Amino acid sequence: MKQRFTVGADGWIAAARQLPSPNVEARPAGAVPTLIVVHNISLPPGEFGGGAIADLFLNRLDCDAHPYYAANLRGVRVSAHFVIHRDGTLEQFVSCDERAWHAGASSFFGRERCNDFSIGVELEGSDASAFEPAQYRTLAALAQALAAHYPIDALAGHSDIAPGRKTDPGPHFDWTRLQRETSFPDQYFPYRYRPASP
Ligand SMILES: [Zn+2]
Repeated sequence: MKQRFTVGADGWIAAARQLPSPNVEARPAGAVPTLIVVHNISLPPGEFGGGAIADLFLNRLDCDAHPYYAANLRGVRVSAHFVIHRDGTLEQFVSCDERAWHAGASSFFGRERCNDFSIGVELEGSDASAFEPAQYRTLAALAQALAAHYPIDALAGHSDIAPGRKTDPGPHFDWTRLQRETSFPDQYFPYRYRPASP
């Protein structure tokens, strides 16, 4: 059966595992989500499974547990609205009505501060490996649910809005597959169908 999600009036998806992150703030007055930003993350990098991503977004990651954490993540305060695990499981950390801290310094065709007007989705993965079919299924169903509830009109990779600084979701992320599974029109994928700068 095709997966379906629904965004509730509070910006949460009831069918997702809900893990409210403290790394959240109000969106600027009048800002509504129009952009979905696709990321990848794995902790430690390149290792899948375990609960370290959730621990990071909940500010409870034990940074002494791995040298990468100690070198890179101590005191880091980040979040994304959603994480999609390798088996397609959906976790939600921030209400879509609120501003999560996933994009950092970023620009969507000249509009900066993408966290103000975007929803961040982290796929558990890396730049070096393919994503799982179950992840595309969940991402497509999630994107459709978000587009049904908010005036979403574009999807972008983190690397599209922070070029030179970010590389995720990486070369293995299949935008054609995502478009096919969502049935979204070409204009929802501006970085695929029009140049990033004039
Ligand atoms: Zn990212």
